[in-house]
Amino acid sequence: MSVTLVHLYPRLMNIYGDTGNLLVLRKRLQWRGIEARVVAVGVGDPLPADTDVLLGGGGQDAAQGELGADFVSRGAQLRAMADDGVVMLAICGSYQLLGHEFRTHEGVRIPGVGVLDVTTVGSDIRMIGNQHVGTAWGRLVGYENHSGLTTLGPGARPLGPALPGRGNNGRDRTEGAVRDNVFGTYLHGPVLAKSPEFADELLRRALARAGLSTDLEPLDDTLAHQAAEVAVRRPR
Ligand code: GLN
Repeated sequence: MSVTLVHLYPRLMNIYGDTGNLLVLRKRLQWRGIEARVVAVGVGDPLPADTDVLLGGGGQDAAQGELGADFVSRGAQLRAMADDGVVMLAICGSYQLLGHEFRTHEGVRIPGVGVLDVTTVGSDIRMIGNQHVGTAWGRLVGYENHSGLTTLGPGARPLGPALPGRGNNGRDRTEGAVRDNVFGTYLHGPVLAKSPEFADELLRRALARAGLSTDLEPLDDTLAHQAAEVAVRRPR
């Protein structure tokens, strides 16, 4: 029994500790006696055919541009994986690139892969601060820092209402997007460290897809909950 966790572009897309999401999922599997295989996929590397969970972090506009062609070349495969129920968690810059496109503040068009029905346009303000969002699968607690304003199309649902922060675009009070097992969010942190219920939801979906038992042994999440409580009480 083993789960393959794939980290896409760990060198270019990993700001504000987003690699921690991978560590959280790996540890939560190991604590339950489930083996986790971790594969780092950089520019030019193949995506493992047996990917169970794909993770992508945030990045600077420049990094997003640098890997743009490589990412777009994976479009058909990523769309097929999403249609096949592969679990994906994309943070900020990776969330933007899973959408249709990101047009930066400087007017550079970085095409996305259309896995998520969202479109992003850079603005001249940065949306920075603590943020949390109540989702149907537990609260996500993290930190946002982006200039991109993301609008959802009819094929994506928001994760929930953006509570103290700006969320997707600072206008419609939404945060993140979901379709099938694909989740995008602006929350760094790493967000899963303070969102254990959501982390387990991702694992359960991956286990269910692999035909494995989704009965996850309960863990002592006291520290994670305490950290989340402190974070949500912090000023933005
Ligand atoms: N460069 C993108 C933006 O500013 C993404 C930033 C991020 O990943 N934190 O909107």
